[in-house]
Amino acid sequence: MPQANLSEIYSPSFHLDYLEATLRLNSNMKRKFPTGSEDDQKDEKKKQEEVCYAPEIIKPELLELPSELKYIDFQVNGAASWGKCAPYNPQRQLRISALNEKPVFNEESPALCFYVHGIDGRARAATVHFPNGGPPVPTPRFMPVGTKGTLKGVLPDEIANMKCPIILANTYHLEIQPGTELINSVFNGLHNFMGGMMPSSFNLSAPQPDQIVNHETDNKTDIEESFKNKNIKGRQQRRLYNLLTDSGGFQMVSLASLSVVTEDGVMFKSPYTGENMMLRPEDSIRCQNDIGADVIMQLDDVVSSVSVNEERFRAATLRTLRWYDRCVKAHRAPERQNLFPIMQGHLDVSKGGLRELCLAGFKCRDQFNNSSSEGNSKKLKHTMSTRKRIPGFAIGGLAGGENKDDFWKVIDHACRHLPDDRPRYLMGVGYPLDLVVCTALGVDMYDCVYPTRTARFGVALVDEGQMKLKRHEFAPGNPVGNSNVPIDTECPCEACSRGVSRGRLHALLKANNPIAVQLLTQHNVTYMMGLVSRMRESILRKEFHVFVRSFMKKHFSSKYNNVQVPEWVKDALNAAGISLESRTNES
Ligand SMILES: [Zn+2]
Repeated sequence: MPQANLSEIYSPSFHLDYLEATLRLNSNMKRKFPTGSEDDQKDEKKKQEEVCYAPEIIKPELLELPSELKYIDFQVNGAASWGKCAPYNPQRQLRISALNEKPVFNEESPALCFYVHGIDGRARAATVHFPNGGPPVPTPRFMPVGTKGTLKGVLPDEIANMKCPIILANTYHLEIQPGTELINSVFNGLHNFMGGMMPSSFNLSAPQPDQIVNHETDNKTDIEESFKNKNIKGRQQRRLYNLLTDSGGFQMVSLASLSVVTEDGVMFKSPYTGENMMLRPEDSIRCQNDIGADVIMQLDDVVSSVSVNEERFRAATLRTLRWYDRCVKAHRAPERQNLFPIMQGHLDVSKGGLRELCLAGFKCRDQFNNSSSEGNSKKLKHTMSTRKRIPGFAIGGLAGGENKDDFWKVIDHACRHLPDDRPRYLMGVGYPLDLVVCTALGVDMYDCVYPTRTARFGVALVDEGQMKLKRHEFAPGNPVGNSNVPIDTECPCEACSRGVSRGRLHALLKANNPIAVQLLTQHNVTYMMGLVSRMRESILRKEFHVFVRSFMKKHFSSKYNNVQVPEWVKDALNAAGISLESRTNES
C-alpha cells in the first residue's frame, strides 16, 4: 500500500482547512490504532477523533472524497494510504457542447470556461474561453513561446494572423527586464506593454472556423485610452491573443549556476548580478499577477527527469503540493487569472507511486474547493472565498531527456486520472510527433520553444520531418531538394503563400539575413497551428485514427526521416486505442 505522511502533503496551516473537513465525513474510513498501553490507545483515539470530527459539522453529502481517496486508510502516526484509481472512461459525465456555445463564467470558475465538442477514442476537441477580451482557444492547442510576450521577429498582429490564440511568456525574463512591477504599474499589464491589444483599425481577416465573438463590449479602445484609464485592467479591450506565463522557477534554476531548494523557496545565484536571490511561491505569483496573463503557473519543485535520486523526487513531488497551497493563498486575481497546478512525480506511475500521490493530492484539493462552496460552515465559506475550483491541470517533470517509453506512460497515466472536464496542459513538449501521440492520449495544450528555436537554425517543419534548409540540396537550382518551390505549397504562411522558394531561403540563411529566420519562424508556427487544427477537425469528424495513420505514414519512411515507426509510438497509440497496422480500410 502506498503511504504518505499527511504533513508531507499539507503544510500545517493548510492541513486543517482541507483535510479535517473532508475526512471526518468519510464514515467508512478505516482506522488503525496503535498497540501499547490502554491509556496510550485512548489518548491516540481521542486525538484522532478530534482531528476527524473537529468543530463544525457539514452535511456529509456535500463533501465527497475523490475516487482515489475512497480507500484512504489513516493511521495513528499520521500516515495515509490509499488504493486504486477508478478505471478510465473518457466519456464519463462529460457534457458535449455545441461549437458555438457561449461561454459561461461563474463563481466556481470565474476566469476559464472549458467546452468539449467532440471525443474520438481518448482525443478531445474542445474550446477554452477566457473572460479578458482575447479570442477563444480551440484545442488541441500548441502555444509558441514568446519569451517577452511576443515572438522574436514577429509582430503581434502577425501572431493573430497565424491563427495563434495563445502564447507563452517567460516570467523570469520579464522580471529581469523591464521588471514585472513596472509592467503592471506603468503599462497596466503585459498585453499593453508588448502591443498585444487590438488596434481599432485591426480586422482579424481569417477567423477560426468555429470562432465565437466573445468580447465584453464591441467598443474598440485605443491602446492610448487604456493608459488613461488604469481601472480598465484590459477587461473591456479586445486582445489579439491570450497569454500564459510560467512560474519562473524552471528558468531561474536552469540558468543559475547554483540553486538550493528549501521549504521556503528556491535560493539561486543570479546569472546577471551574482547575488543570492530567493524565489518563493508567493514571489512567483506576485510577478505573474503583475504581468496579468490569462493562465499562470504554480511554482513547483523541479528535478531533472534523468536524475536518479529517488528521495529527492519524493521530496519534490510533495513540496510541489505544499507550494501550490501557498500559491493559491498569494493569488490576487483568481477572478481573471487561472492558476494551474503542476503534476509532478518523476516517472513513477506505479500503483500508489509518486504520480498517483501527486494527482490524489491535487484532486483532494479540487474536491474540497468544489464541494465547500455549498457547505453551511462559516469557516469553509470563508475559505472558499479565496479558493476556486482548479481551472486546469499541467503535467510537468517531462521533456527533460527521459526515455520515450517512460514519457508516454506518464502522460497516459495523467490523462486517465485527471478530471475530464478541465484542460490538460503538457509542459515543454512541442515535437510534432509528440503532439500527435499525446493528443491521442488525451492532452489538450502544449508549449515548447522547439518550432521557433529550430527556425533560427534554418529548419522548416513539415509532416515529413525537418527540412534543413541550410543543406546543399536546397541551394538555388539544385533539383535534389526541389529548390525552386516553397517549403510547402499548401501552407498559408507568409513565405509559402508568397511563393518564397526553398532556394531563396537557403541563400538568405547562408547570408545570415534575419528575414530568413523571421519567415521560417512564421512558417513553423503556422505549421504547428495547422497541425493542431487538422487534429481538431479529425477528432470532430471522429476520424482521428485516420489522421494519425496518415501522419505516421508521412512522418516515417520519408526522405527526411527514413526510419520505422518507433515501438514507443506504437505502444502509446495502442494504449489510446489506435493501431497503425490495420490500414486496409483507410488507405
Ligand atoms: Zn509555410
